[in-house]
Amino acid sequence: MWYDFQYKDGQYCVEDVPVKDIADKVGTPCYVYSNSALDGDFEVFQDSLEDVDPIICYSVKANSNLAVLRTYARMGVGFDIVSGGELYRVLQAGGDPAKIVFSGVGKTKDEMRTAIEAGILFFNVESFEELIALDEVAKKMGKKAPVSVRVNPDIDPNTHPYISTGLKKSKFGIDIKAAMEVYRSAAQMGGIEVVGVDSHIGSQVFDLDPFTQTIRKLAQFAGELKNEGIEIQYIDIGGGLGINYREEDSPPHPKEYAEIILRETSGLPYKIVLEPGRVLVGNAGVLVTRVLYIKEAPSKKFIVVDAGMNDLLRPALYGAYHQILPADENFGDVESAEVVGPVCETVDVLSSEAELPDVGAGDVLVILSAGAYGFVMSSNYNSRPRSCEVMVYGEQFHIVRERETLNDLVRGELIPDFLK
Ligand SMILES: *Cc1c(COP(=O)(O)O)cnc(C)c1O
Repeated sequence: MWYDFQYKDGQYCVEDVPVKDIADKVGTPCYVYSNSALDGDFEVFQDSLEDVDPIICYSVKANSNLAVLRTYARMGVGFDIVSGGELYRVLQAGGDPAKIVFSGVGKTKDEMRTAIEAGILFFNVESFEELIALDEVAKKMGKKAPVSVRVNPDIDPNTHPYISTGLKKSKFGIDIKAAMEVYRSAAQMGGIEVVGVDSHIGSQVFDLDPFTQTIRKLAQFAGELKNEGIEIQYIDIGGGLGINYREEDSPPHPKEYAEIILRETSGLPYKIVLEPGRVLVGNAGVLVTRVLYIKEAPSKKFIVVDAGMNDLLRPALYGAYHQILPADENFGDVESAEVVGPVCETVDVLSSEAELPDVGAGDVLVILSAGAYGFVMSSNYNSRPRSCEVMVYGEQFHIVRERETLNDLVRGELIPDFLK
């Protein structure tokens, strides 16, 4: 919630903790999450969707820190996973396997086996070959794998091309026209139990119309399945609801999302499954960094900070915007500057359009809305240890992932005998 991130007595705070105190204690860069915001943003989403009464499966790939997953697991939330690694994390965090859906185009047989063993809600199958593999694995185990087929509705979500997933040209899902044939086969397979239909059209979606069209297509398709004698229980409409990165952004409220779901599915006998990621965690975390140098170049002013594209990839990957504020509240005149990291790449820019008051070396800056697709996309590029992650709880803060050490950087690397 916005009030978990604000200035108090001149210091930018997460809940009741000044980020400067955290920076002094654990170093920078560091991700800081608010437990209260995680709770609050989830409650807004859940309350808004009360009349839909969906199974909410948090999309783990948005932020997979164990403490974040634990926060949801304790509230009884389900999980949308895309790998065996995410399954492992969810189980470590005490998540309920019966509320896990498993998405992704490239599940291995090992991952399938582990997920069947765990007893997940269903697999979102993305190709006919995957279906055959899953059938084989399940039969060998003497079990039936619950399956939804991810259909590709060929709908443009009007978002960044890199995060559009429901267009005909995308690698995701099975073309909705070809999907019926896949369901007919699935219904005959001894290791498969058909339970639902699924779609996920993209991320950071602001326009409700593509969702409306998708849900309509899914509901219609479910009806066609019924006519074929294939009865399903679940319609999974994926995730993708957008959030504010700029103050002037106006993403749809989850209540408006609920309205279109109700409109398209009321009276139908299906349980709705949702896979929200960004909308639950995006505004529940910030990245805290420290200014290293100010560099006045002829064309512009650069602020060189100690966080780079290896810590927060979104600006470099999608040209994404993140607002940046000084930790010390400063009412002085603002000036345009480019905030850049230390990585040796031209695209290592955290904001090309920051508006900041006069800051200098040693000052702490806060990069907002970094809770989703932040730490999870971080890497060791340029041999930079990954940052630590902190969770704030009222007046307390806790390290929920330690900063990597130099030893961590070379862990597992070996120099073979012939080089000794
Ligand atoms: C990434 C992803 C989501 C979550 O998307 P958000 O935009 O973060 O809500 C949901 N489902 C699938 C299959 C995904 O790949």
